[in-house]
Amino acid sequence: MIVREEKALGVRGQFKERLHHKILIVGGGTAGLTVAAQLSHKGVEDVAVLEPSEKHYYQAVWTLVGAGAYHPEASVRPQEKLIPRGVRWIQDYAQEIDPERQVVRTLNGREIGYDFLVVAAGIQLDWHRIEGLEETLGKNGVSSNYRFDLAPKTWAFIQQLKGGVALFTAPSTPIKCGGAPQKIMYLTADYTRRKGIAKDTQIVFGSAGTTIFGVPEVKAVLDRVVERYGIQTQFHHELVAVDGEKREATFEFTPNHPEVKANPGAQRPRVTLPFDFLHVVPPQSAPDFLKQSPLADPSTPLGWVQVDKHTLQHVRFPNVFSLGDASSLPTSKTGAAIRKQAPVLVANLLSVMKGQAPQKQYHGYTSCPLVTAYGKMFLAEFLYDNVWHPTVPLINTQKERYDMWLLKKHGLPFLYWNLMLKGRA
Ligand SMILES: Cc1cc2nc3c(=O)[nH]c(=O)nc-3n(C[C@H](O)[C@H](O)[C@H](O)COP(=O)(O)OP(=O)(O)OC[C@H]3O[C@@H](n4cnc5c(N)ncnc54)[C@H](O)[C@@H]3O)c2cc1C
Repeated sequence: MIVREEKALGVRGQFKERLHHKILIVGGGTAGLTVAAQLSHKGVEDVAVLEPSEKHYYQAVWTLVGAGAYHPEASVRPQEKLIPRGVRWIQDYAQEIDPERQVVRTLNGREIGYDFLVVAAGIQLDWHRIEGLEETLGKNGVSSNYRFDLAPKTWAFIQQLKGGVALFTAPSTPIKCGGAPQKIMYLTADYTRRKGIAKDTQIVFGSAGTTIFGVPEVKAVLDRVVERYGIQTQFHHELVAVDGEKREATFEFTPNHPEVKANPGAQRPRVTLPFDFLHVVPPQSAPDFLKQSPLADPSTPLGWVQVDKHTLQHVRFPNVFSLGDASSLPTSKTGAAIRKQAPVLVANLLSVMKGQAPQKQYHGYTSCPLVTAYGKMFLAEFLYDNVWHPTVPLINTQKERYDMWLLKKHGLPFLYWNLMLKGRA
């Protein structure tokens, strides 16, 4: 219920509204819609979702789109069809959050008061932090599965490969789906084998990470995959510039590169690599309006909403919760993680609304469906501190399997649209 509504013309002719909702969810992506649907099932009233986009994307299949194994349009649905019944959709951008006054101000001049706030505004792709990248994206063999419009370009460039260097990058910041930079690499490697051009193609992984994967059980499998495809790994390499015309990518050694450690204070070395195809995963951070808000974690410039890692409650503002990519939860940022976070958040929010302490705990569960070839996938499941945690009964998920590929291509999209976003999984 809207308890107060004022409408007036703003300074630049914008419509101004003052609204109030018991629960305001900022962001109607994977996390926001899942929480809204679960609240709706529990009969909670006066919930609003602040979400600017007309369209909702199931981003996890963009890996398959980039490999020509999924139709891009099948990853999009109209937002209005997904907002749960009884929940109000406010189509606008949050611009400023004032947790002292309990209001969110929007781009279109609205001021929305709340009793309880759930922040689920996702992650920001910082393309601009790589010099020369934005102007060459989608051209000169440069693409990224991290954007809906670019994932089909990835597939186009893969098909144009006649040998040469296929270069894949991963940044030093946390990213959504830590496995996504590699999945498209393995699919490209498999593609070159199937086309008979593998011997003429060098696949290179230029990653700011220190290893192929932080979980030892996953690393063991991926080390074998990397060896099978003859992939050249360059760890401690951060992509800093792209020259599309020359088809060159420049990397800077990260602070933990052995050479940098051995020469403290010296300028960090850079190397430039040629490419025929370049798949970029950009650095990522919380959306700027969150970075600038009092909700941000002050220990990092990346601006994540600082919540308790078990209860998902904000550490300074007890009527604020956060989950998903925008949150400070120290786990791999995935939809699978949100599936486990959402019920914990909803239960704890309801406790706090009743004046009780949060009861439920999230232990960092996340999973990454690691596609390693056309028709092959293995499921990496783990908890906080990279603790391996398989949950699928009866089958050995630490193996590349065809049934797991079918799960990725058919099972998980069904689960997402029909169960998770409806608050039933
Ligand atoms: C290529 C790729 C592959 C992936 N593969 C997998 C996978 O295999 N498995 C898996 O589980 N996950 C995967 N993911 C990750 C998964 O998609 C994300 O972790 C998940 O969608 C995060 O949900 P979220 O709600 O936090 O953010 P999002 O779903 O991105 O939603 C954020 C929402 O906030 C809105 N928003 C932004 N700014 C504002 C604002 N100012 N005001 C109001 N609203 C705002 C946005 O419009 C958006 O709707 C993948 C992602 C990518 C890109």
